[in-house]
Amino acid sequence: MAGILVYALHSDENEFNANSLGAISEAAKLAGEIGGEAAAIVVGDVDDATCASLGGYGASKVYRAKSVPEGLAQPIVDAMAKVIADNDISYALFGGGLLGFEIGAGLTARLGAGVTMEVTAVRADGGKLVAERPVLQDSAIVDVGYVSEPAVIIGRLNAFDAVEGEGSDAEVVDVEVELSDFSSGATMVKRGESGEGGGVDITDADILVGSGRGFGGEENLAIARELAESLGGEVAATRAIVDAGWIPYATQIGQTGKTVAPKLYLAAGVSGAIQHKVGMQNSENIVAINKDSNAPIFEYCDLGIVGDLHKILPKLTEAIKAKKGQ
Ligand SMILES: Cc1cc2nc3c(=O)[nH]c(=O)nc-3n(C[C@H](O)[C@H](O)[C@H](O)COP(=O)(O)OP(=O)(O)OC[C@H]3O[C@@H](n4cnc5c(N)ncnc54)[C@H](O)[C@@H]3O)c2cc1C
Repeated sequence: MAGILVYALHSDENEFNANSLGAISEAAKLAGEIGGEAAAIVVGDVDDATCASLGGYGASKVYRAKSVPEGLAQPIVDAMAKVIADNDISYALFGGGLLGFEIGAGLTARLGAGVTMEVTAVRADGGKLVAERPVLQDSAIVDVGYVSEPAVIIGRLNAFDAVEGEGSDAEVVDVEVELSDFSSGATMVKRGESGEGGGVDITDADILVGSGRGFGGEENLAIARELAESLGGEVAATRAIVDAGWIPYATQIGQTGKTVAPKLYLAAGVSGAIQHKVGMQNSENIVAINKDSNAPIFEYCDLGIVGDLHKILPKLTEAIKAKKGQ
């Protein structure tokens, strides 16, 4: 069969992550076009109803590998390789994210398959899938077809929209997986919050203090945190400071991070690059503080302040606290 298998990552609370749901929706659309089925694989002890709910996103079947732990790539590669072989599945599709990349790469090696990563769109052509992948800093697109199946497609983070329809429950099929010796070489010691940024969902916050390289160093982010706290909001970040290791990836906004739409987005030391803009442009009010009057963010903010964030932020925090009588 020309089926598509999607890895559905879930939290400890058995909530599926948005990237996985997006990949399932995409697989459902594509499976219809190539005459196959969209299936998902779920690992760990996830109840029937939760697994079956993936039918709402278009999965007709959910393979559940109860004995396989969530969160480590190699055991999941074992599970996916087995399901693909046993069911003659043609494509494995991942929604992106670090774990998706890791499993996708391992699965590619295991299957001796062709792979495309950072895919932003997939289309059906003559009963086969063609993956579109941006190159040269997104200025050009490469179309990638596959000469053999199974094949692996790894999406860019948030590339596929989750579409919840009125689909019926998916059929849940339990699979027994024998783990390879080397797949038990690494073992999960703990799965929990990732420290700062962990447990905080910036997509839920009404107020965000967006922080960029203008802070000059990790230690200076304290003034962003103080401001966010005084406002009852959270600190969010540009990719530049996530890549620099100043703040966890969970707080990144933009093309390769999260999309937010808070009531107030206060950007400090953020230039406003297009890749950042796409993640926050729907905020109700955008306030920008930047020492460069030509910074791109001034072209689309509601209120722009030209000045040094190191001087302005502490004063702002002080004023807010005073107003609140703190
Ligand atoms: C494929 C791809 C995907 C990407 N995805 C993302 C993404 O998801 N999210 C994202 O954010 N970026 C992303 N980027 C990176 C993006 O292009 C920018 O490089 C990044 O957003 C810049 O971050 P920044 O604004 O913190 O840093 P900079 O561009 O270096 O800007 C720093 C700003 O701080 C100002 N400044 C300096 N000192 C002060 C001061 N004392 N007071 C006030 N202002 C000051 C400067 O004038 C400047 O405007 C991506 C890039 C690529 C190629």
